[in-house]
Amino acid sequence: MNAFGRRHGGWLLAVAVFALVVGLRAGGVLRPWENALADQRARLLEHEVSSDIVIVEIDAASLATLDEWPWPRQHHAKLLDRIAAAHPRSVFLDIDFSAPSNMLNDAALEGALGRPRDFPLYLPTYFQRGRDELLILNRPLQRFERHTDLAVVNHVPGADGLTREWRNSWRIDGARAPSMIDLRRTLPDDTDVVIDYSISPRSFTTVSYVDVLEGRVPRDVLAGKTVYVGATSVDLNDMVAVPVYLSQPGIVVQALATETVNVGAPRVPSSAAAIALLAFVTLLMSALYGARWRVNMLVFAASVVVVLALWTWAFTGFRLWLDAVSLLLTNALLFVAVALRSLEAQTWKAVAFSLGMRRRDALLKSVVQSSTDCIVCVDDAGIIRTANPAATRLFDCAAYELLDQPISRFITLLAVDGAAARLGAMHGGIRECDARTFKGEVFPVEISVSRVRHTSSANLRFDTERLYTAIVRDIRERRAQQRKLQHQATHDSLTGLPNRAALLARLETALGAAGPPLPSTVVLLLLDLCRFKEVNDTLGHGVGDRVLCEVAQRFQAALGANGFIARIGGDEFTVVLDSPETAATIDAISQSLGDCLRMPIDVAGISIEVGVSIGIARYPHDAADSQALLRHADVAMYVAKRRGVTWEYYDAAHDENTVRRLSIGGELRSAIASHQLELHFQPQVNLRSGLVESAEALVRWHHPEKGAVSPAEFVAVAEATDLIRPLTEWTLTGALTQIRAWRERGVHVRIAVNLSARILQDVAFPARLAALLATSGVSAASLELEITESAMMMDPTRALRVIQEIDKLGVLISIDDFGTGYSSLGYLRDLPVQALKLDKSFVMGMRSNADDRIIVESTAQMAHALRVELVAEGVETEWDAQFLKAAGYDFAQGFHFSCALPANKCMAWILDFNATAMLTAGEAVPGRETGITRPVRPSASAARR
Ligand code: C2E
Ligand code: CA
Ligand code: CA
Repeated sequence: MNAFGRRHGGWLLAVAVFALVVGLRAGGVLRPWENALADQRARLLEHEVSSDIVIVEIDAASLATLDEWPWPRQHHAKLLDRIAAAHPRSVFLDIDFSAPSNMLNDAALEGALGRPRDFPLYLPTYFQRGRDELLILNRPLQRFERHTDLAVVNHVPGADGLTREWRNSWRIDGARAPSMIDLRRTLPDDTDVVIDYSISPRSFTTVSYVDVLEGRVPRDVLAGKTVYVGATSVDLNDMVAVPVYLSQPGIVVQALATETVNVGAPRVPSSAAAIALLAFVTLLMSALYGARWRVNMLVFAASVVVVLALWTWAFTGFRLWLDAVSLLLTNALLFVAVALRSLEAQTWKAVAFSLGMRRRDALLKSVVQSSTDCIVCVDDAGIIRTANPAATRLFDCAAYELLDQPISRFITLLAVDGAAARLGAMHGGIRECDARTFKGEVFPVEISVSRVRHTSSANLRFDTERLYTAIVRDIRERRAQQRKLQHQATHDSLTGLPNRAALLARLETALGAAGPPLPSTVVLLLLDLCRFKEVNDTLGHGVGDRVLCEVAQRFQAALGANGFIARIGGDEFTVVLDSPETAATIDAISQSLGDCLRMPIDVAGISIEVGVSIGIARYPHDAADSQALLRHADVAMYVAKRRGVTWEYYDAAHDENTVRRLSIGGELRSAIASHQLELHFQPQVNLRSGLVESAEALVRWHHPEKGAVSPAEFVAVAEATDLIRPLTEWTLTGALTQIRAWRERGVHVRIAVNLSARILQDVAFPARLAALLATSGVSAASLELEITESAMMMDPTRALRVIQEIDKLGVLISIDDFGTGYSSLGYLRDLPVQALKLDKSFVMGMRSNADDRIIVESTAQMAHALRVELVAEGVETEWDAQFLKAAGYDFAQGFHFSCALPANKCMAWILDFNATAMLTAGEAVPGRETGITRPVRPSASAARR
């Protein structure tokens, strides 16, 4: 198997080479090479042959002697006589006798030509194509030709202008016209004999014309010889351009051609034979070439030698004129093809690799140069050897200030333990460290180092040295970004305060620091805004956000440097006091945090009041870790909220409440649906008439396990969730149903229903109320709604709108728990309020507290001035009732009369109470019926009714 066979397409390649060479050969492209090769061979093989040709030269000496040209033909006549006398074998007078000269001379020549002789005599003739392709034959005069034979002296030069062939005979007008070269007719007619120029012209004996003429040439020189007489003098212009010898006289060329025929005319194989030989060589060489290029080289060289040797041998030995060039070319092409194919496998790779390397080097260089990262090469001694432009920018200096400088001057880290050792240790890794500019400015960088072995071929010595490449990246911006991210991660974007994550981190460190051996106190305050949800819900988040920002600022100002404040959720803030605090300082701080919100917050022209409930938990007193601390502060905060105080300390008992609150929240919904709730009614006594004319509906929940749950407790839970709506509707429906039921039984009692603050913000409520009234068929004036001052304060505008809508329905409105909120008389004047209900704390306090008595009395005066009715709740004694009656109170409600009773019991109680009252009052009481509508101040809408 060889390189061709092994690979697909190998034989195809051989065929291609063969076809190419055949094509080139047929196109004559190879001809010049062929000639050049043959000429070279002729030069190498140049030799003399033993020729019988004697050339009688019309040479320069003859011309000089016979000082006249053309010579008188008598000279030729005389020469011929001289030659004839020597008895040559044949004579060829290559002299033009086609035109007559003078009579005497022509006659002399004719005489000489006509003399009897024992050898053939030839005269030249030649033809040329004249106009109209007419053949113009140039022949000796008839008088001369009669006595001689003719020889055609035409010759046809090749494409290169050199005469390489001589034809043995021509066909002129159908007759054979021989040339001189093959008088014995050894070759077929019309053969172009390839002249063998290896025959040296020196093979021919030459004698000078004039020497023969004057008898100086011995007879035996010419005896039995073939004598050619012709011009050899250059002056006579009969030179023929030939290969090998540049130019030769025509007579010599004819002599060479003649000698070629004599020796044996070279035989040129037919085209078919040549192509067959070529095919054979192609096959042979294809088979010989293998995969190893060294062997192929030898094969090639050997085959070239063999081809040349065979070619020469064929010529010398067999006169075979083979076509060496096409063979050599085929061979060479095959060799090259095989070489290229094997190169493909090995050297191509190497060539491509080295080209690639060079390109990669260039690429690398450009990458390094254009890199925005600083790249420096440092040697084993820590000296900077190369640096890219980014390096000069980074270190703020010129390249020459960087090169040959110790790297430790720029990277401070590398100054420690020697740069090289450090660089070695940093190999393959990335470090952040400080760098210094040329002028000394220090900045953070990231540095990655890799060790490289560099082989330099300077001075033709290959030295391997150890280098380090350091990529240095400026990370100032990244650090700033990191700081920003860090800040974002630990700070609240709205208020700029630390966030929950920051709080936890802070707590961890505080608790860690507070751990053993020095247990100290960490105090966590959890601050939750009151009424903030309403602000957000009703005024939108934009306002809510501004309120939060303002609150945050106030808290910060109030806290000063006393602690760490964070915002951990919507309206939740925390304060960490991590220096040991006494209860007094904690109280003082809590107080100031509460106080700072006393002043309303102005946002977009709206004055908003928010409060704060603070839960306080202490480490290690209340909790062992930060999570527990937070949870407990949260519990305490809810307690504070529920109790309506600003702050509350955590108490383990709170936790139970918290759990209870959660369970209440979960169970209330099903309690409403499953009738666990019940409405009780507490009668209100008209102090003037002494009769019960109204009652307050109070919800009761008999929990299957917990027993009676206080409405104060679960209403607060309901308010915190959406349950307040169904609860309110349930209460209203119950109250209206009761009014109707009692009326049908002849008892006309107005019922007051408590309205939660959240409901007062619900603009859809009046419509629902109207619907309930319509379905119940109860007159609006039989219903009274109790609202609290604080409910009013939430969003006064909206609350006012809802109240006005309720008033339009004809439902009465009273202010519950009057005196506990931030009472403002201004709004009372604008509200369509029926009655004020002084909070029971004042009533219950007035027996022992003079201030409360003053409040009770002054409230009465104010109410009368505003012409609203006055109700007192929490009336527990007869004294209370008497005092209130004296003070001018219109109605009284309290345990002194009755607690809240189930509907039936309440009705029975009312009937009984009123009957007794009427009996006591005697005739003073008109009519038997109890439900006497009390005179009311006509409200704005009531006036319209
Ligand atoms: P409130 O509106 O101020 O109701 C009066 C509360 O005082 C009632 O407590 C009542 O039982 C109690 N009370 C009446 N007379 C006296 C007295 O002479 N001395 C003392 N110490 N207390 C007296 P209750 O029923 O526990 O209700 C507590 C609060 O729960 C109510 O305060 C009211 O704000 C709320 N509430 C009760 N029922 C409802 C309801 O159906 N809807 C809404 N939204 N809130 C309700
Ligand atoms: Ca009430
Ligand atoms: Ca009340």
